[in-house]
Amino acid sequence: MSTLFTKIINKEIPADIVYEDDLCLAFRDINPQAPVHILIIPKKEIVSIATLTAEDKEILAHIMLKTAEIAKHEGLADNGYRVVTNVGENGGQSVFHLHFHLLGGRKLTWPPG
Ligand code: AMP
Repeated sequence: MSTLFTKIINKEIPADIVYEDDLCLAFRDINPQAPVHILIIPKKEIVSIATLTAEDKEILAHIMLKTAEIAKHEGLADNGYRVVTNVGENGGQSVFHLHFHLLGGRKLTWPPG
């Protein structure tokens, strides 16, 4: 089932896009939890990592490589950052289209709440 992220992919609703290619899209989170808070998503409609299949391997590897490139481009590489994906209700997932949160620009605490 489509979510609002499909509307962002299709440019039906606006987003602050920082990177795009055939496989993925990266845009700034509307409710940032850190000075840099970017969401990296596959263009393919995948609910979460729980529903990945073997055919998604290339997409996932691509997203991880691009996430690291975006982090570097945002100036996060030296001091570090966090990449998080929430899964389901207990994981705190609110949009059911796979996304990786890239968080940085401040010291992040651990463990998360
Ligand atoms: P999660 O709670 O892990 O599913 O993350 C969903 C994220 O999407 C949250 O951090 C929201 O702030 C973010 N979000 C929701 N709507 C938008 C939007 N229109 N543009 C950018 N980010 C959004």
